[in-house]
Amino acid sequence: MKYSVLTFGCQMNISDSERIHTQMKQAGFAFHPTWEEADLVIMNTCSVKQKAEDKVWGQLTKARAIRKKNPKFRVGLTGCMVRDSGVAERWGELVSKDRLFASTDNLDFVFRIEDLPKVPSYLSVLYGENLGQDYADEVESYFHVQPDYEKSFQVFVPVQTGCNKYCTYCIVPFTRKREISRPMQEIIEEVRELVEKGAKEVTLLGQTVNSYRHRSSTTEYSKNNFAELLYQINKIPGLDRLRYTSPHPMDFDDELLRAHKELPSMCNHVHMPLQSGDNEILRRMNRKYTREQFLDVVQRLKAAVPDVTITTDVIVGFCGETEEQFQQTVSMFREVGFDMSFTSRYSARKGTYSAKHFEDDVTPEEKARRWHYLNEVMIEQLKEKNARYVGHYFPVLVERILEDGRGEGQTRCAKRVQFQGVDRSVVGSVVPVKMTQSLPFLLLGEALTSS
Ligand code: SF4
Repeated sequence: MKYSVLTFGCQMNISDSERIHTQMKQAGFAFHPTWEEADLVIMNTCSVKQKAEDKVWGQLTKARAIRKKNPKFRVGLTGCMVRDSGVAERWGELVSKDRLFASTDNLDFVFRIEDLPKVPSYLSVLYGENLGQDYADEVESYFHVQPDYEKSFQVFVPVQTGCNKYCTYCIVPFTRKREISRPMQEIIEEVRELVEKGAKEVTLLGQTVNSYRHRSSTTEYSKNNFAELLYQINKIPGLDRLRYTSPHPMDFDDELLRAHKELPSMCNHVHMPLQSGDNEILRRMNRKYTREQFLDVVQRLKAAVPDVTITTDVIVGFCGETEEQFQQTVSMFREVGFDMSFTSRYSARKGTYSAKHFEDDVTPEEKARRWHYLNEVMIEQLKEKNARYVGHYFPVLVERILEDGRGEGQTRCAKRVQFQGVDRSVVGSVVPVKMTQSLPFLLLGEALTSS
């Protein structure tokens, strides 16, 4: 039988899908890249915005048409839209009470990603035979499902699931539940194995990755031991680049700054979500920091790593955001000089505190205006910032060869680069590239060597 996976949303979901692939292959399914031609599709969903959920509902409508042609076609859902794992009531066993089943009869099973080891049981109910349950019985937790990595040289390793921060606009603490950190030794072993198999770059993943705490660790770090994890991973021979995403500003302690300064594998890039530059909006978002505290982290980071690049996430048009409050976010852009912002327009997510208690009172037109305004500010800044790279060499990890024969990859400071002078043999290796031209979101260059 053929299966396919449709992944929506963030890097965490992409990483989770790599574990879903392993579970499905262990259950005897073969991957098929075109989901409309498969026998079963799993949609790994995102609900950060209404638009993201709408995309999933659109695909579910499409799936209904496929089922009409192929009555044996089955549909599963996981990710942020799912609260309770199990199969649809019509299958009679291991039934889920998830509210999604009230909205559509076109779903066969749903699972919280933490319940991934239960998927073989659900498949066995759907198909009436044992599908991978022996493998699943050996797997104690979702973290123990070995991922089927898409790229061996650039890998993403989750170090925690869930989130304890409860930002008022966010559904994650309700879908992924409380924060759980993986044992440190388990992460180190996974990274060691990946590096032995050729990984050059490892990104540690967590919703608030720097609040990582391994429950039984003996650590010299008093507040948390994310920095200790970085120090341990840095010792693994052959690891070139170490990244993490996303940190929470309030968990950014001195030990983490020290790790950035001292560890050779640490990349000089931090993606740190700001969300708003206004203290009253930050308070209503329950972000747990002020504008001044965010700026303090930025200043300490820049002092520790002078060539660091900082990227961020911002929401414009949050409930009650006035023009004056929006301008506070604009001024933060000017003070920090972000190297990229993933800016979104606020949309109320059902079940969140802000959806229940605040009015979504900024008009769509005004949200769009603020979004474009902020983008313009960022583009102006990036033109100037990126021009400084021109004429200099930077090591670039080659990720792929484009159709026109040029290479594409990333610098250690997370600048995307397209460049001449390489062939397919260098994909997955690090080559020196001289930057010849800069654009707001891209650097162009010439590789020094193709060997
Ligand atoms: S830190 Fe806030 S925005 Fe991020 S996952 Fe947790 S609750 Fe959501």
